[in-house]
Amino acid sequence: MAQTQSFSFELFPPRTPEGVAKLPAIVAQLAAVKPKYFSVTHGAGGSTQDGTYDTVVKVVEHTGVEAAPHLTCVGSTRANIAALLQRYRDAGVKRIVALRGDLPATAMSPSAPGEFHYANELVGFIRETHGDAFEIEVAAYPEMHPQGSGPIVDFEHFRRKVEAGADAAITQLFYNADSYFDFIERCAKAKLTIPVIAGVMPITGFQNIVRFCTSCGADLPRWIRLRLEELQDDKPALLDFGLDVVTRLCETLLKGGAPGLHFYTINQAEPTLRLWKNLALPVPV
Ligand code: FAD
Repeated sequence: MAQTQSFSFELFPPRTPEGVAKLPAIVAQLAAVKPKYFSVTHGAGGSTQDGTYDTVVKVVEHTGVEAAPHLTCVGSTRANIAALLQRYRDAGVKRIVALRGDLPATAMSPSAPGEFHYANELVGFIRETHGDAFEIEVAAYPEMHPQGSGPIVDFEHFRRKVEAGADAAITQLFYNADSYFDFIERCAKAKLTIPVIAGVMPITGFQNIVRFCTSCGADLPRWIRLRLEELQDDKPALLDFGLDVVTRLCETLLKGGAPGLHFYTINQAEPTLRLWKNLALPVPV
């Protein structure tokens, strides 16, 4: 495996006292394989800015591994975002995952309310106000963003984020390697050379994976959905099947030249670590 490949883990700020109590042990287990960084979501599922900040700071304190906050700009003002960026910079943060965020379900217009409408404006603002102080990751959608008006236009919007100064991209989860390779080909044709890290979600249940795929517009291939549905009452068999499917997907991606994997851990260590072991990824000393 090339040294330069990037392996990172995504967490969300826990929202219950039990979640808060469990997280340090989960993070310690994940940190043991020395990921490049942890990222911590923001806003998804109602988490607050303080929740993201606190989780980022604790992860670094407890593990020494870099942690990157997700920063969403939907509904925010420039002043608000400026204050947050300064707070992160003061805390020693060097990497930001810059996103628009999801619009409120009640939004009437596809563009976000507030002073930022799309993620490219946030990327531009970070560069304008902080130069190269932060490494900026943005979201990529090999199967198109669910609100995209078409794959060509959606790709043009991705290009704007790169041109605004993104250093790398992380894809939405997907179970169809061809969609990723097609996206990489389109990047090459458009001369977009930033690394596009594949976002990978381990499969741990039938209902939850159907829900995730539906909400983010990812295709769950029929054969996988049918097998998971059949196995839903036999958890060990479902986990083994899910592990096989996602292991094969990751092997295909890495063999095909993916510059790295970003694991959506959903704050669980075991599914991601089983995958890590199956893929024989290194545990640096
Ligand atoms: P954008 O790149 O701004 O795109 C949003 C939509 O607008 C797309 O349909 C695009 O085609 C369109 N668009 C973009 N620019 C323009 C333009 N100039 N004119 C017209 N249309 C345009 N959500 C959270 O709430 N919290 C998180 O922590 C979080 N983390 C994520 C991490 C990753 C790796 C990914 C892939 C997604 C994450 N999301 C998160 C979900 C994300 O916020 C949603 O998918 C959101 O709807 C879009 O965010 P974006 O940054 O991709 O937006």
